[in-house]
Parts: sequence; C-alpha cells; structure tokens
Amino acid sequence: WYVSIQCEFALNNHITVLNLNTAIGIDMGVKRFLTLSDGNFINNLEEKLKPLENKIALLQRRIKHKVKGSNNIKKAYLKLTLVHKRKADIRNNFLHQASTLLIKNHDVIVIEDLKVRNMSKSAKGSIANPGTKVKAKSGLNRSILNEAWHKFFTYLEYKLKLKGGILIKVNPKHTSQTCIKCGHISKDNRKEQVLFKCVKCGYEANADHNAAQNILRRAGLARMACRANLTRGRQQELAEAYNSSSIVV
Ligand SMILES: [Zn+2]
Repeated sequence: WYVSIQCEFALNNHITVLNLNTAIGIDMGVKRFLTLSDGNFINNLEEKLKPLENKIALLQRRIKHKVKGSNNIKKAYLKLTLVHKRKADIRNNFLHQASTLLIKNHDVIVIEDLKVRNMSKSAKGSIANPGTKVKAKSGLNRSILNEAWHKFFTYLEYKLKLKGGILIKVNPKHTSQTCIKCGHISKDNRKEQVLFKCVKCGYEANADHNAAQNILRRAGLARMACRANLTRGRQQELAEAYNSSSIVV
C-alpha cells in the first residue's frame, strides 16, 4: 500500500537579504558526485552500494536455476525487487541529504545547464532484468548517473525556491578545459582525469575544483552585484534580473 498526502500552503519565498557571498558553483562528476567551487566535494555512492550490487548479482544467478512459473522463482523475484527498492531508496536519500546541505549554506547555486533527462520511466521495466545495460566507459551506468543528476537538480531547484534562493544554469562549454587563473582554454590543460595543469601559465589544481570555479564565475555574479549596488539596492535588482528561481545564463 502507498499513502499519498497532499497539503497546500502559502509560499513565502522572499529572502530578506540574498547573500551573494554564499554563491557557489557545482561541478558534477563520476567518481566525485559533485565538487564545489570552494574545494569541498561529495563522493559518489557507488562504493557504498557495492554490497547490494553483489546481492543482486547473487539473486540473479539463483533465478537462472529455478523453474519458470514456480513459487520459488516468484519468491526470488520478490526478493530481488526489494533489494532494488532498497538501493533506490538509499540513492534517493543521498540526493536529498546532499541538496539540503547545499541549500542550507548557500542562497545562490550555479550549475551547468546539462541535458539530463528523467530516466526513471525507462528504468522501471528493467527491475526483473537489470544489469544487462552496457556500462559507460567510466564504469558507472550512464542512465543511473543521468537520473541521479536530474533528480538532484530538481531537488536543488524546489528547495531553493522554498527558501527564496536562486538556481542559475550556465553554459557548460569548456568549463573543464578553461584555466581559472589565466583563462586559457585548451584540451591539453586536462590531459589527466584528476589533475588540471594549465599549459600556458602552469597553474595546477584538482580538475573538478577548477571546473566548479569556472561554473561559478560564468554566472557573472560579480558584475551583477556591482550593477545592483549602483542602483536601487541589490536585492530588488537581483529579483528583477532573476525573475524566477531558476534561470539559464
Ligand atoms: Zn592558466
């Protein structure tokens, strides 16, 4: 049984002072789920989910040896479904915790305008027969990652909206290849997965951290703050400029 409860309440989404100093850029990744422009990061869940993955593999092997249509196979499928459910719950909980943590500390959050889709519909039918999808080069199923990011962005957006903050989406082009120090853009800056090394100025940093800083800078908040301060007060100006809780720059 599922119980669904709805309620209605007035939304007071006018933050008194939007603190631009708390603005943060987020770079989404594979090994690290996300890296912030201040250097903090959150690792992906995959290591933690490994015991459940093993359990799923074991159950699937067992199912192969059972008689089709038997009670035994029905029981085995039920077990398998429950493990999948548990995995999905853990993942969802992780996304809620991560998004809540971020919106608590930041009024303005900048992400890349990635073309992520909600994949849950296509994934639904595969519970009885999962794990056959081709894994991405990264070792992580692309569709899972895609769905996790989509959910995460959705959570960030509605939680920020409740708080009165702003989610800004920026063009993702070259964010990982651009040097935050000198602005030089080159594929050669990112020869290694983890290390960013600028071929022009020699700046070295964690590649995801460098990207997250570029993402934050791309939102043009410094320019925005200057302009806002010159006129009627930045709060009103920002509200006008970002006449929505989520904008694409
Ligand atoms: Zn450089």
